[in-house]
Order: sequence, then C-alpha cells, then structure tokens
Amino acid sequence: MAILAVKHNIEIAHRLILTEGKCQQIHGHSMWVTMYLEGAIDSAGMADGMDFADLKTEFRTYLDGTYDHHLLLNKNDAWAQSLPVQNHNGQEVWSWLPGLVPFDGDPTTENIAKDIYSKFFLTLPVVRVEVWETAVNMASYGG
Ligand SMILES: [Zn+2]
Repeated sequence: MAILAVKHNIEIAHRLILTEGKCQQIHGHSMWVTMYLEGAIDSAGMADGMDFADLKTEFRTYLDGTYDHHLLLNKNDAWAQSLPVQNHNGQEVWSWLPGLVPFDGDPTTENIAKDIYSKFFLTLPVVRVEVWETAVNMASYGG
C-alpha cells in the first residue's frame, strides 16, 4: 500500500470549557493539518488513481471554509449562543459571534482531528488526520 499525505494550515480561535486552566480563555492557534490516505499502486503508478491536485483542492476547500479564521466553541458554551446587537440602523437584532462554529464537545485539537477525519472518511481512503496546534504539540485521529 502507498500512503499519500496532503497538508494545509488554518488559523483558528477557540476556548475549552470542560478543562480548567488557561485554555478557558479565547485564544488562537496557527495549526497545520495533515491528512494521510492509503491506496494500492495501480497500473499508472498512482495510489488507486488518486490525484494530488484533486485531494489538495477538496482538503483545502473544506479546511478554509470550515475552520480558517473561525471561532470554534463548544455548542454548550454561553458564548456560543446568539446575542443581541445593534445593526447599522440602530435596531436590536440577534446575531451569532462573527465566524462562530458551534462544536459538539470542546473544540480540542483531538476533536478537530476527529471532525476532519469523519468528514473525509466516507468518501476518501483516509487513514489518519494529524493536527499540529503548535510546533511541538500534535493530536491525531484515525481508524
Ligand atoms: Zn488552544
């Protein structure tokens, strides 16, 4: 079997409410995400015909649209609710925090890796997703 990997970066903000400590404050990370895929080498010398260009487009489009420059909060976090704000006409309207992505559970690095793995698992032969939250900390999720 051949293993392919595609890698992309995301800039996210998050906070954790289920763990005591500094991670309860909203803070940001420059994360690197790598997805590993497995395939048998076919007659064209490719891993089951997978094309890096297609993989990168699909992977990067999902990460950019779902995570990059977004605020990830546990859906049970008090700040993950809609809030009253004034619009440009001075009227009160209910709005979500800009860029909010409500998460099932805390948006830990482990859960982000699991979420990305789950997104691609049904359509691609993904075997593992790594999420580096800093240059020295990483969580991965796989089957
Ligand atoms: Zn963090």
